[in-house]
Amino acid sequence: MEDIRFRCRGCRLKFTLGADALVVTSLGVMADFQAVTVLGTGSSFVDNRADPDLVASLERSWSSLDSSTVRDQLAEMRRISSLLSTGRPRWWKCQKCGTEQTYKLIRVSSKQFEGKTLQEAKTVATNAVPEKSILALDVVRDVEGKAVGGEGKSATGAMEAARARVPSGAFDISPGEIVEEPRHGTLEIQAYSQEKAREVSKREVKRNAPKGASLEEMKCDVRPAKGFLRIGRKRGSWKVQWSTPFRAKVSFKTPAVVVVQFEE
Ligand SMILES: [Zn+2]
Repeated sequence: MEDIRFRCRGCRLKFTLGADALVVTSLGVMADFQAVTVLGTGSSFVDNRADPDLVASLERSWSSLDSSTVRDQLAEMRRISSLLSTGRPRWWKCQKCGTEQTYKLIRVSSKQFEGKTLQEAKTVATNAVPEKSILALDVVRDVEGKAVGGEGKSATGAMEAARARVPSGAFDISPGEIVEEPRHGTLEIQAYSQEKAREVSKREVKRNAPKGASLEEMKCDVRPAKGFLRIGRKRGSWKVQWSTPFRAKVSFKTPAVVVVQFEE
């Protein structure tokens, strides 16, 4: 159920049913005596101009109410919500100043704001939303320092790859640094054909070279002998070069985020 939140036209006092105010409707009284079941009959509109709901602010906290009062209040709120949802006017009377008026609900919205510091995010929020309509300002997260990595065949390529992964909205982005230079190595493999040799090389690089290494070059040292009907067939041997990429790191900060709940 949406909050039933409204303000008195007379004394400007704000009431939120279920939080800081109590309501008594004649519907609730009738329901108590089981005389009339107004709701759920299809003709739920009741013109209560002559018999407005009574609304009073709650002196103590909502949690201090006994369970039967809470149950009654929730039932009253459901009735009022349901009647208001029809769009027809419903009357209430402010217990404090006696003004009789129709309910004009205050809608609550929320919006997110960012800043390069938590204080900046809060300032942006309070500049954008009038202070008196702010109900709550919650910190989603503070500024965070982060880093992303990238790989490439060249130092520039690795840094570009890392920069491409920096999320939008980030700031204080570092130019990037190389955190790992490429490593190179060689493997010897044997196979019956050039085609097989390539297959074996890829597998062996994956198995023996460091993570992320790729096949750079293959050089045939001894050519394989084809033979005839498998007789005289001989494996050739290849020297395989592998290398790992440049690895770069770019650090940056992500903005502080606050969420403001406010009355529209
Ligand atoms: Zn009032």
